[in-house]
Amino acid sequence: MPVRTVGATHRAAHASQATESPEVRAALNWFSRNLGWINDQQVRITEVPAPPFQESSRAELVKSLLADCGLEVSIDKTGNVIGELTGATDKEIVMLTAHLDTVFPPATEVKVRRDGIRLSAPGISDNGTGLAGLIAVARAIHEAQIKPRRTILFVADVGEEGEGNLRGMRALVDTYHAKLKAVVVLDGSGTDHVTTKALASRRLEVQINGPGGHSWSDFGMPNPINALVRGSIRFINTKVPASPRTTFNLGQIEGGTSVNSIPYEAKLKVDIRSESEDELVKLESALRESIAAGARDEMESSRDRSKGKLEWKIDVLGTRPGGELAPNSQLFAALRAADDYVGNQSRVERSSTDANIPLASGIEAISIGAGGTGGGAHSLQEWYEPTGREMGLKRALLTLIGVSGLAEEKSK
Ligand SMILES: [Zn+2]
Repeated sequence: MPVRTVGATHRAAHASQATESPEVRAALNWFSRNLGWINDQQVRITEVPAPPFQESSRAELVKSLLADCGLEVSIDKTGNVIGELTGATDKEIVMLTAHLDTVFPPATEVKVRRDGIRLSAPGISDNGTGLAGLIAVARAIHEAQIKPRRTILFVADVGEEGEGNLRGMRALVDTYHAKLKAVVVLDGSGTDHVTTKALASRRLEVQINGPGGHSWSDFGMPNPINALVRGSIRFINTKVPASPRTTFNLGQIEGGTSVNSIPYEAKLKVDIRSESEDELVKLESALRESIAAGARDEMESSRDRSKGKLEWKIDVLGTRPGGELAPNSQLFAALRAADDYVGNQSRVERSSTDANIPLASGIEAISIGAGGTGGGAHSLQEWYEPTGREMGLKRALLTLIGVSGLAEEKSK
């Protein structure tokens, strides 16, 4: 459609105009001169533990780092750190965000090991890279004295991982919804992708309870672990389509008190995802049917039903809505213009990230890596190598400025 073509071309030209501003060029140059400093901040941040629901120590550190960038910084009641750079207009807001939390429990060893250029520690890349990128972009913009047209919020948010259920981003979108024009999420490393499609997912917890008893004298009594195993085997035999891609994971299992006790409780956490909301609904009912059948099988085969029966339930721990960024959006044009400028090629991806929440509310949003290379996310062997980090940082900065605009553009 001609109207769209003109609009998109105009916007791309607009975004690349930013690189003609001396302030923007100064900000881009700031990165390569400060790579050592950026690495050091990433190490500092990673070494402050941020288990799910316990992000406050790391939040304090990031707050002080953002304050050093000349920003007005506060922590909201959800725990998000918000640094504000007021634009020529405060009626419109864009956000650059990186999640604070890791998947690792308290007491996980998070000391960073340096081996040549390689940095290793749980959380070093996801999301040490994103948080270091957030600080670096804020610092570069501050040092170069860039004045944006729209207000920019630099945000380190809580609750991205697992049962955090995106609560930090949910709160941000609730608060700023009316003014919020675009969200750029920095998550992990790399420059190879841009997540513009939000993957719908659900996390469920199965709980089966029974009377419990002695392994010898009460043998034959219905056993919640047996029931859970029976139900789980039924569920994992469920056929899921390759397209639309649909997945499930039995991620955590617990229950029982000792080897010689018939347990009174067994629990299982399951993550299900799909490109299609319909498949997600089907898979959730398959889980419910499988667990019901597992409990029934166990009851039917137990010899002694006089001592009680099994009860089961499935709770939804979290749900992430789907959504998609329009290909003709201003944000997508800004990202592509940034890719062109830095000589990067990136593929469009669908994934479950903080961007799900704004996308589901019709707000432009993407999630990108903050440069360099990383691996082993969510494992104790996680690592990061900063080689090539500048490209990721420049790409993030240009995308952000592409959607915030520059204050002086108005007077031209
Ligand atoms: Zn992450």
